[in-house]
Amino acid sequence: MSAPATYEDWEARAAGLSINGKAFIQGQYVSALKGETFTCISPVDGRQLGEVASCDEGDAEIAVQAAREAFESGVWSRMAPAKRKQILLKFADLIRDNREELALLETLDMGKPIRFALRGDIPAAERAIRWTAEAIDKHYDELAPTAHNEIGMITREPIGVVAAIVPWNFPLIMAAWKIAPALATGNSVILKPSEKSPLTAIRIAILAKEAGIPDGVFNVLPGYGHTVGKALALHMDVDCLVFTGSTGIAKQLMIYAGQSNMKRVWLEAGGKSPNIVFADAQDLKVAAKAAASALAFNQGEVCTAGTRLLVEASIKDQFVELVKQEMLAWEPGHPLDPNTVSGAIVDQQQLERVIGYIEAGQQEGAKLVQGGKRLMQETGGMFVEPTIFDQVHNRMRIASEEIFGPVLSVIPFNTAEEAVEIANDTIYGLAAAVWSADINKAHKVAKALRAGSVWINHYDGGDMTAPFGGFKQSGNGRDKSLHAFDKYTELKATWLLLE
Ligand code: NAD
Repeated sequence: MSAPATYEDWEARAAGLSINGKAFIQGQYVSALKGETFTCISPVDGRQLGEVASCDEGDAEIAVQAAREAFESGVWSRMAPAKRKQILLKFADLIRDNREELALLETLDMGKPIRFALRGDIPAAERAIRWTAEAIDKHYDELAPTAHNEIGMITREPIGVVAAIVPWNFPLIMAAWKIAPALATGNSVILKPSEKSPLTAIRIAILAKEAGIPDGVFNVLPGYGHTVGKALALHMDVDCLVFTGSTGIAKQLMIYAGQSNMKRVWLEAGGKSPNIVFADAQDLKVAAKAAASALAFNQGEVCTAGTRLLVEASIKDQFVELVKQEMLAWEPGHPLDPNTVSGAIVDQQQLERVIGYIEAGQQEGAKLVQGGKRLMQETGGMFVEPTIFDQVHNRMRIASEEIFGPVLSVIPFNTAEEAVEIANDTIYGLAAAVWSADINKAHKVAKALRAGSVWINHYDGGDMTAPFGGFKQSGNGRDKSLHAFDKYTELKATWLLLE
């Protein structure tokens, strides 16, 4: 079959798509124990994609048992890293080979443009698995600097059963950032995708099996957070809970861990990232283009979105005009049209949330200078204009709360100290950017920013080689890079005294 090149091609492919909504436990696709399902509705135009298993406590019980048995059997946990590597590389190959189907599922399920699903999400998920697989047989343990008659071995061991609970904004990438290092280090995994975007997680389960991942080692449980998610988080036999999602749920998961078995909890949570533009930025047009994409890419449904645009007062009006111009390129279109760069908001609930914040911004006295309206309602899809508010104060709700939609708050500042103060005046600490041709100033500001990722003179850089995660209430631990292995292993010190 030739690669789809037009909207019509993708629609034709969508018409022939078979949707699998089952759970995957012990190497088999199964219905939820109670037979319950929920309907998967596409935000693209409201079409019904299919029924998805609504798993709960009973399904969690079976999956945890399967994962535990697989772990204890050693079939994966004690396999040589070089062998695990080969299997994970095959898994990455299969994701690549099925990229068009996976991209289509991602677009239909959560509304992102097909061009980004195909060229961004699916290859990034594949790369995450490939990079991590390549690393596992190059990772050495340590020897302690002991006295001559002692040997102190410091080794890493897989932690056991890992539950990974992920969000809907980059469904497969977020899943890959968790399952790649978890599997690479020898754990058994239960993946719980968001109820808003379960389809790619379900689809890759069989690819994992085809690649050679033994039954029980990788399981997928679709369902709601308050049912199956909660059951996994409270389970006494889950050793490690890794999560990407909102800060509110992240805090709840820490409570669940405390109420149960003190499982390790690693959290990637929300953000309200400052994008700081100084008057001496090298090229204001380049900075404005980046500011627009930092806000509007993926419909603003990005944890690192540059939602607070801090602009030096002397250039503020001029810069806002430039951003308005650049934002025009991000008008929403049909997600299956390969020319579209902005798609649909994930569902009705999220759309209403975004519209609610736009209303709140106006009520709080911010000045709406662009966008603000729902679009293309007649299509049945969930579209909203990229929206810019000027004259925003950092303590307004639109500037302090995570909206998770394309709503930009422009906040002026006068000095570098003031910029840093405003930037850090947030409960979050996920990302930040600073634009200045003065490298000393840029570095000083970068050092003072309390954020896990800081970009100088660009926005949203990074690849698998650098850790990703947040300060403060944006989370703990790091995804990506070799640092991610820390989350999925226990450190053991074995001490030997020589006779
Ligand atoms: P969410 O917190 O509502 O849900 C995330 C996941 O948690 C879903 O799978 C959901 O079903 C599950 N869940 C919900 N309630 C639960 C409960 N009581 N027990 C167990 N699981 C539960 O987040 P979302 O709306 O899916 O995603 C958006 C959020 O994700 C934003 O806050 C965004 O910033 C964050 N995010 C963070 C990163 C990061 O790396 N820091 C990346 C992407 C998204």
